[in-house]
Order: sequence, then structure tokens, then C-alpha cells
Amino acid sequence: MDRKVLKMATAVILVLTFLIPCTIRRMPDMHEQYALAEEIRSAPILQTHAKASVAPENVVKESNTLNGQLKIEIPQGTDGSGIKVSEDYVTQTIYIKVATDVRDYFSEYDISGSSDKIASLQYYNEGGNGVIAISMNRLYEFTYKLEKGALYMDFIDPHDIYDKVIVIDAGHGSRMSGATKNGIQEKDINLDIVLQLKALFDAYDGNIGVYYTRTDDSNPTLQQRAELANKAGADLFISVHNNSSGTGNFTSVNGTQVLYSESDDRELGSKKLAQICLDNVTAATGSNDFGLLKADDIYIVRSSEAPVALIEVGFMTNRDELAKLADPEYQKTAAQGIFNAVLEAVKEGY
Ligand SMILES: [Zn+2]
Repeated sequence: MDRKVLKMATAVILVLTFLIPCTIRRMPDMHEQYALAEEIRSAPILQTHAKASVAPENVVKESNTLNGQLKIEIPQGTDGSGIKVSEDYVTQTIYIKVATDVRDYFSEYDISGSSDKIASLQYYNEGGNGVIAISMNRLYEFTYKLEKGALYMDFIDPHDIYDKVIVIDAGHGSRMSGATKNGIQEKDINLDIVLQLKALFDAYDGNIGVYYTRTDDSNPTLQQRAELANKAGADLFISVHNNSSGTGNFTSVNGTQVLYSESDDRELGSKKLAQICLDNVTAATGSNDFGLLKADDIYIVRSSEAPVALIEVGFMTNRDELAKLADPEYQKTAAQGIFNAVLEAVKEGY
């Protein structure tokens, strides 16, 4: 063979040996950018209720004698059993269900106090009840008491209750399955791991408040997921996903990869959190360390005000790893790794 051809061939091989591993490393997470971009494109237009929202200044009579409380008049004769109060943290909405058939509550009953924590209010009838929906401008916990024909509500910043506030996100959900391999859907593995993680936090006696974007097969929008972290003023935001190869075909590629926000340049920021997650998950599961990846191209990563880590626990496109990821015992070790990561991050001062 000609020397020149040989030289060329060597050069080509050299370039290829360098390029191929780079491509492999870059490719496998591509589904995530694609899957999450698709969720933004196909997000339903949210309509919480047909009834129009009302601005707080049009409903709430400002009163500074109530010390930040909200006083809601209720129909005469309604006792505690006729009232149910609940909160949807994902939309920061507090629902007060009153056993009444009143059609236009806001014109018939007074709401007074401070409106500065309220974004908007709605009233509608549902199943024989009247529902007052109070959409808050941040995430607040609430307490209430019933006294002399009125409900007195207090809204509490979670940071006044907990030492640390964290938000955990199980990726995808409902008709958005994420990656699918051999009939196993990523959304289900993500949720199973998060539910195991929830069991660990529920049993934990430290003072950490944890909010979840979902604990069932629902699919909050990406905006709602990021907003939950932002409106809770979360100290940490962790999203749980699973990976697949760029083509979606089975390959030998396996391991844990953690995505972070490269625009977060805080010392205790996204990158360091991602490394803590990677170290703890690989230690707990024994999975391969597949490294960190810049991910500002992913909406929830770039939109999070809190330090964020998006953990790709393993590759569904690796036969052995897929079998593990579908196994509750392995999911438990992954959950333990994430739990350990949160405790380490808190110890580091996050
Ligand atoms: Zn995913």
C-alpha cells in the first residue's frame, strides 16, 4: 500500500477513535431533550375551571386588624363538618369546599384581611358544594379555625416550618411515557423510584419539607414542575428520569448520568449538587458512573431558581440495566442513593 494512503488511513482511524466515544457519550441523553421538548409542544392549555378568576382586590376587603389572616364568612348554620379545606401544592391553590348552593359567593359573603399573598380567586359550584379556590402567589402551608360564622386562615411560608425545603419530580406521566422499552415505560420507573424515596422521607425524623410534582400517574406541565420548585423557594430541586440510547435500540451503554444547569455559577449550585447525586446514586446502586452533562437546553433545568439535578438513574436500552430498573429492590437502592445525596447536600450547606 502507498505510504500516503496508509498515513491517511491512520489519520482517519485516529479521528474516529476520538469521535466515536464522544458521540456515544453525547447521544444517549438525546431522548430526554426530545421527550421533554415534545411535552412543551403538546401541553394542554390549562383550564382549571370555566369560571373566571377574580383579582384579589375585587374580592378581599383589606383589613389590617386581622394580622395577615384571611377571614372568610360562611353561610349561617354551617359547622365544621360542612367545610373541607385542601391544597394542591403543584398549582399553589387552596380549595375551601362549603356545603352550600350559593351561586355568587363573592357578592353575598365577605372575605376580608390581607390579599398580598393571593394571586386570584375563583368560586364555582361542584357536586352540591360551593368551592372557593384561592390561587396563591407563592407556595404556602395553611392553618384555619372556624369561629362565629367565619373561617380564619393563616398562610405560612414553608421555610418557617422546615429547616430545608426540597422539591422532587418524577419525570413524565400520564400519556407522556418518556422512554419505552419492552413494554416498560420510563414514567412508571421514575414514579416507582420517587415513591420509594417518599417512603424514606416520610420515615425520616429530620426537619426537611418535601414537595412532589406528582405521586401518581398525572402529568403536570414542565412549567408547573419548575414553578413548584420556584414558588416553594426550594433549596434543592431533583428530577428523576431514566435514559435511553439515541436510537432507542438496545446497546451496551449503561450507567447513571446527572444533568445540571451550566448557567448556575453558584458555588453551592447545580453542578456540585449533580456531582453529589451522581456519587451517591452510583455508590448505592453499584451502577456505572456515566458522568455529568450540561443541560440548560432542558426547560425544567434552565428554569429552576433552586440548584437542580436531573438524575438519569440508568439506561432502559441496556438489557441488564432495564431488568434492574424494573425491580423494586433495585429501585429502592436508587431511592436510597438520592436520599443520601439530599442529606449530603444539606450537610454541605445547600
Ligand atoms: Zn425522561
